[in-house]
Amino acid sequence: EGTPAADAYPRKILEYMEGFLISKTVFTSCELGLFDVLLGAERPLSAEEISHAVGASQDGTQRLLAACTGLQLLNAHTDDGQVLYSNTEQASVYLTRSSPLSLYQSIQYSSRTIYLCWHYLTDAIREGRNQYEKAFGVSSKDLFQALYRSDEEMVKFMQLMNSIWNICGKDVVTAFDLSPFKVICDLGGCSGALAKQCTSAYPECTVTIFDLPKVVRTSREHFVTEADQRISFHQGDFFKDPLPEADLYILARILHDWPDERCIELLSRVYKACRPGGVVLLVEALLHEDGSGPLTAQLYSLNMLVQTEGRERTAAQYAALLAAAGFTNIQHRLTGKIYDAVLGHKET
Ligand code: SAM
Repeated sequence: EGTPAADAYPRKILEYMEGFLISKTVFTSCELGLFDVLLGAERPLSAEEISHAVGASQDGTQRLLAACTGLQLLNAHTDDGQVLYSNTEQASVYLTRSSPLSLYQSIQYSSRTIYLCWHYLTDAIREGRNQYEKAFGVSSKDLFQALYRSDEEMVKFMQLMNSIWNICGKDVVTAFDLSPFKVICDLGGCSGALAKQCTSAYPECTVTIFDLPKVVRTSREHFVTEADQRISFHQGDFFKDPLPEADLYILARILHDWPDERCIELLSRVYKACRPGGVVLLVEALLHEDGSGPLTAQLYSLNMLVQTEGRERTAAQYAALLAAAGFTNIQHRLTGKIYDAVLGHKET
């Protein structure tokens, strides 16, 4: 007892040890445009054809295609002695650049930014802070100055923020019936993906996206079209500048960037600006109260350590922050997907 049987096989540990091989295989396939080439071809292609199209060695491409087949991202079938490859349904929908549900940009950000930060996870744990200085040589004194260290990085971050709401957005905006709240302010609303989910779920509402000036400029230019008439912008710093008056404030993936004191500071400003009878909706990946899961939120909390000043929290922890700022009647709803919803009220 206590010692594993001789034939024990540490399947999980081996999988964990090599998990990054899978991530990198997916990153590289996307970066090379493998799934885009197969989508564009409209017929199964051979390794040779694919290697020409992506501009890579035939041997390397062949091995990558085999690995993607093993990961069930590609279908392989033999035709006349030749192996031909095509995208699986999931690869077409989520891994091609042009798909409306594409995760391509998130994968790029994971590959180019998050993966590099995670190289310093051990340092992050030891020091209890983010690793921007080591990973990118930029000061992390101002979090969003570090995240937006160039215009290119900012756009990449915005694309990352954008993509998940095509998949999880509807669930978080409809977790509570928000139809009574017509004037919505999405604080740190970024590229407007969640604002679009609100206007489609609630036909009578208007949404103001509040964000930093250069984010607003980019969002206007590249993400939100003039046709989205019920979406407008307000630029400013939510820690310093006056907040627009609204019935509903959305803070999606905002509080997880900040320590408790700053969260209470921000929520207190929201409470002051909020109309009596109004509400605040927090959208976050909630941890179980006993910390036992979900694994995604536990890993995201590590990611917040490596990349931000914040953490993931339990519903009770968010409720405590909301209560400290004056909000009452605090409720939460789990969606069964990555992000959940917490609602707090300002009394009439
Ligand atoms: N809410 C979006 C979402 O969930 O997709 C974006 C979340 S992102 C993690 C944080 C957002 O807060 C960014 O768009 C960032 O520009 C914005 N932000 C950060 N600091 C800010 C500040 N001081 N004033 C206004 N917006 C800020």
